[in-house]
Amino acid sequence: MPIVRVSLPVPLLQLFDYTSEDATVRDLGRCVRVPFGRGEKSGVIVGLPGASDVDPSRLKPVRHIQREVAPLPADWLELVGFVAHYYHAPLGEVIALALPPGLRRADAVSDRDADPLLALTDEGRAALEADRRASRALSLLGELNVAGVVRRSVARALPSGESVGDALRRGWIAAVKASDPAECRPGGLPELTAEQLAAVDAVTGAPPGFVPWLLHGVTGSGKTEVYLRLAARALQAGRQVLMLVPEIALTPQLESRVAGRFPSANVVSLHSALAEGARSRGFVQALEGHADIVLGTRLSVFAPLPRLGLILVDEEHDASYKQQEGVRYSARDIAVWRARQRAVPVVLGSATPSLESWQHVREGRYRGLRLTARAIASALPTVRRIDTRRLRLDEGLSPALQAAIATRLERGEQSLVFLNRRGYAPVLSCPSCGWVSQCPHCSANLVVHLADRRLRCHHCGCDHGIPPACPVCGNQDIQPFGRGTQRIEARLAELFPAARVLRVDRDSARTRTQWESLLARIAVGDADILVGTQMMAKGHDFPNLTLVGVVGADASLHAADFRAPERLFQQLMQVGGRAGRAHLAGEVLIQTEYPDHPLYRCLVRHDFDAFAASALDERRQAGFPPFTFQAMLRADAPALDDAMAFLAHAKRLAQDAAPEGLRVFDAVPMRLTRLARRERAQLLVEADARSVLQEFVGRWIRMLRGQRVGRELRWQLDIDPLDV
Ligand code: ADP
Ligand code: ZN
Ligand code: ZN
Repeated sequence: MPIVRVSLPVPLLQLFDYTSEDATVRDLGRCVRVPFGRGEKSGVIVGLPGASDVDPSRLKPVRHIQREVAPLPADWLELVGFVAHYYHAPLGEVIALALPPGLRRADAVSDRDADPLLALTDEGRAALEADRRASRALSLLGELNVAGVVRRSVARALPSGESVGDALRRGWIAAVKASDPAECRPGGLPELTAEQLAAVDAVTGAPPGFVPWLLHGVTGSGKTEVYLRLAARALQAGRQVLMLVPEIALTPQLESRVAGRFPSANVVSLHSALAEGARSRGFVQALEGHADIVLGTRLSVFAPLPRLGLILVDEEHDASYKQQEGVRYSARDIAVWRARQRAVPVVLGSATPSLESWQHVREGRYRGLRLTARAIASALPTVRRIDTRRLRLDEGLSPALQAAIATRLERGEQSLVFLNRRGYAPVLSCPSCGWVSQCPHCSANLVVHLADRRLRCHHCGCDHGIPPACPVCGNQDIQPFGRGTQRIEARLAELFPAARVLRVDRDSARTRTQWESLLARIAVGDADILVGTQMMAKGHDFPNLTLVGVVGADASLHAADFRAPERLFQQLMQVGGRAGRAHLAGEVLIQTEYPDHPLYRCLVRHDFDAFAASALDERRQAGFPPFTFQAMLRADAPALDDAMAFLAHAKRLAQDAAPEGLRVFDAVPMRLTRLARRERAQLLVEADARSVLQEFVGRWIRMLRGQRVGRELRWQLDIDPLDV
């Protein structure tokens, strides 16, 4: 009896053998349901070994092999295998992450386009000519014969529409691909700028095969237009395009731009907010080659794409490409690996590239492309610093910023006050006894949310009413301390009573629908002053927005994380890029107590290169990535001692096994030590070469997996950690 080897989503490295009467090599890569323990699990067939190490009489038969959809191809199995290897994760867990749940459960999944184009098949034509007894199905065939192709929704609406299912089952009609997915929206495309043209020509003119490109284009320079031209070329060549975006919130705008450009292409969105059925359907369409463009967030990097011709990674610097739980993969890094595997070009685009990618260009591993000018607005916004050291601020707002807002109001233009802290105030405190509102479960303060009169933890989400008096001394005069978006919003409403103030943060845009309606309100000019967090910084065009005021940015200058300045620079550059996107000139005002800080000086000059050069120098001197390679072991337990003891033990194991050139640091409590009632600590290991780190971590993690640990202790490994 054939034996199938199955990868299952369990935290074990091993694979599991089962029997299946009718399994053949064609079942490699198929989803399968198998008995496991007392229940059932689903996984993927990754091998058909001739024999098993397990006694054949003890092998159990599989329950169900999903044969309605194409098996996952060998290159996809290789992809998940690479991810498992690189991130030292069990293969089954990587597969569980990469596959839509419905598919993994080997449920019946329709691979059909929700509304495919239907056309007559040869059988259908034969049936039509065979002059049978008149029937609904035949009259449908007759209609389709005249129409050529129609969308299923249209066919269903015909008088004979009931028989669409019947005709499909008989093979008389079938879904067909649209005539030419590369066909562009009629009505002319914008003429490319010389820089855009050079970028497109460079990529399309390169010899076929793997080439990693970094497209560094200032905000509004028309990077998306470059992506679309490159996508058109790939579609013309009959290939599929994978386009990654950092956030679901950004997909609607891009989706409509892409779908608008390529009306006959099958554009499939893949992200975690999709309903299960839609996600499975999109995945299967990619797998079977029916999707022309797959557009999605980080998990879409796992889409199987038999005709893959191009990978695009928009806003490649964005931290949300890195998954922060479970298998901590970087979709951007996997995208580059994937492009190499499939011998296709990959274009990483950003106005503020990550220092990692920037360094790759400097070392000649990636090729650089530049867009230095905006595509339509005449110039980049003017950036000015407002030295707040000797100023009296009104709820954090300087007179200069208020005046600038007033000017915009007079001109009927929009302003944005950017503050990366939501809520009303970061903490509630008692001036008489010193009590502060602390989260009972985390080492963090409860944030004051006056909008709904709650104290809320932004880390664990717990939520309390605002006490009427200090819970310790009974003082009724307890004060919100510090400032968040709600407080700025409230003050702006007082200062400018005639203006419409709109707050845009994760509290006001909790769902995609709320977010889209906020965007729509901004777009139609239904707001004069916006108060927003980093949600506002990303990728949106607000043609009437001409002023960005930055409040409270200094805190990040002195943060402990070595990546904090890079993140701040990116954020300010991006949010500044929202100003003056159309034909109006933009202005950015940065309130700071450190006006001479080099970071702000580079910002004023829009000088990413200078910032990157100095930041990379610092990184090199301090021995930080991208000049070194890191892995972080994190442990958490109800008691900090237990987490620390585990890491101390892990450190001893590491020291015994450490090769030359590997550094093992001390275990330390994490900055946010307590999170949701668990105490957390971390241990950093670092090497000058990736291969040294990888080889060591492979051995180390095997040792760690062999350790007995307390039931309450959990640990995970993070390769290329972003938060150190
Ligand atoms: P980026 O992605 O670099 O921020 P976009 O691609 O969104 O920039 O382009 C910014 C704006 O410029 C968009 O409104 C876009 O339609 C427009 N645009 C881009 N390229 C051109 C061009 N060659 N001619 C005219 N308008 C352009
Ligand atoms: Zn008190
Ligand atoms: Zn909490």
